[in-house]
Amino acid sequence: MNEVVGEVMISQKELEEKIAELGKRITQDYEGKEILMIGVLKGAFIFLSDLVKRIDNNQLNIDFMAVSSYGASTKSTGVVRIIKDLDTSIERKNVLIVEDIIDTGLTLHYLYDNLKSRNPESLKICTLLDKPERREIDISADYVGFQVPNRFIVGYGLDYEERYRNLPYITCLK
Ligand code: 5GP
Repeated sequence: MNEVVGEVMISQKELEEKIAELGKRITQDYEGKEILMIGVLKGAFIFLSDLVKRIDNNQLNIDFMAVSSYGASTKSTGVVRIIKDLDTSIERKNVLIVEDIIDTGLTLHYLYDNLKSRNPESLKICTLLDKPERREIDISADYVGFQVPNRFIVGYGLDYEERYRNLPYITCLK
């Protein structure tokens, strides 16, 4: 630990167990179907890589998008810019968006509408963390790992000024 990062909120073991559970559910829900999992960079990269290993599906594909919201680093403004778009079309595909955290919901709302307009067969959301207290727009995920309180979370892919993504557990700033 150091002066910036607080107590462990979600341990490595808890993350592993929850991800195994989510993987099992996703395996069942998409049985016999192709899945296109879209990781939202950069925050979701560790979650996505651990989650796909827990999904038993030989037709699973992975792609990435990178988005950034304008404004201060710990606040979302709802104005979203696509920095990296998908490599391929999602038309008639079963798409699962994989996010690190839903906070105000503004980023995901934008992303969901954007992807929906590309005519996927189905479009669902999987998020590791959910901060429901902070929601400004009505959006919820189909698969949620953990609900977290209104704190600024770091670790396991989530950053503060690009640091702490490599922590193997979830914690928050002091
Ligand atoms: P929203 O648009 O839902 O407010 O925020 C979405 C994005 O803001 C997330 O994908 C994440 O990148 C960032 N974010 C929101 N809350 C947190 C947090 O507690 N910690 C970190 N590191 N990023 C957050």
